[in-house]
Amino acid sequence: MDVGLKRELEQKVYAGERLSREDGEALYASDDLAWLGRLAHHVRTEKNGDRVMFNVNRHLNLTNVCSASCAYCSFQRKPGEKDAYTMRVEQAVAKALEMKDEQLTELHIVNGLHPTLPWRYYPRVLKELKQALPNVKLKAFTATEVQWFEKISGLTADAILDELMEAGLESLTGGGAEIFDWEVRQHIVDHACHWEDWSRIHRLAHSKGLRTPSTMLYGHIEEPRHRVDHVLRLRELQDETGGFTVFIPLRYQHDFHDSADGKIRNRIQAQTKMASPAESLKTFAVSRLMLDNFDHIKCFWVMHGLSLAQLSLNFGVDDLDGSVVEYKITHDADSYGTPNTMHRDDLLHLIWDAGFTPVERDTRYQVVKEYGAPVSMAERRSEPQQVWA
Ligand code: SF4
Repeated sequence: MDVGLKRELEQKVYAGERLSREDGEALYASDDLAWLGRLAHHVRTEKNGDRVMFNVNRHLNLTNVCSASCAYCSFQRKPGEKDAYTMRVEQAVAKALEMKDEQLTELHIVNGLHPTLPWRYYPRVLKELKQALPNVKLKAFTATEVQWFEKISGLTADAILDELMEAGLESLTGGGAEIFDWEVRQHIVDHACHWEDWSRIHRLAHSKGLRTPSTMLYGHIEEPRHRVDHVLRLRELQDETGGFTVFIPLRYQHDFHDSADGKIRNRIQAQTKMASPAESLKTFAVSRLMLDNFDHIKCFWVMHGLSLAQLSLNFGVDDLDGSVVEYKITHDADSYGTPNTMHRDDLLHLIWDAGFTPVERDTRYQVVKEYGAPVSMAERRSEPQQVWA
């Protein structure tokens, strides 16, 4: 990158000035990873000090049966396929109850767009889950699912959100965003929820007092300019509503899964590579720099591995998800040996070993518990270090 442009971008960042689309594209064009990390770490430290937030949650996928066939998706199954499943309400409750002793604070629920399950099933599941685990916050459904509920119920998103909130919904999930730019989206997404509906539903949720996360699926057929466009749309919506809690860049995964039928479902696999760790760190850093009105950037460690999750804390990330006991959507596509189970203690040590201070939060990013600061690097070096997967 031209030295003059580099200085100019640095000055903007240190002065707290908003970065433009051109700035974002220039940052992606830089191969100076250490420099990007330094800038993003400055912003992250200004906003969050050395704190790293996490929550103790469980991911629950009620059904993998889906009417859509998104090109990258290895999770969905068609009705009648051998490993297609749909949980009865009681099964979902029983699964959630298995975690009762984990001091769980959140259930994260996302599902396929089931062709025949009736709309009434969804508020019923939430109601029963809330009854079984009254202290657990329910973060459920993507905007894509809410739009699907409109289709199967004939109700408006407004009425749907009211009913789901009445049943115990605390937050939508951030999924279904993928890449908003139609140039890319038309090749990877196979349902009817695009930017117009995704933003309409999150805007509506924010107007009802819900706070929601947001995501981006990167590292497939998109180019850096599409990532910049994606975060700029979110930044604009955040200016309008202030309702987003966090931004989560999700790393696109190849489908190496040895599934029951041995099928590879990812249809763009032959034309794609996955993002390298360096590309992921760059994506965290540029996202942190562009999203000046977002408090938090999250690394979903299941998709990155634990070592990269630790490194990401120096590249703009201040939030780790989470204490996951079971996560199907990634693990149907992942053979990298990333554990799918971590508990509160594992996560605390992961954060301390990376040199940061852990803070347990709830779904709305309220502090549940502050933990002690890490010991110094010199002290840590004198002890045997945990080797993270
Ligand atoms: S990404 Fe979601 S909507 Fe698309 S096929 Fe997979 S489960 Fe269905």
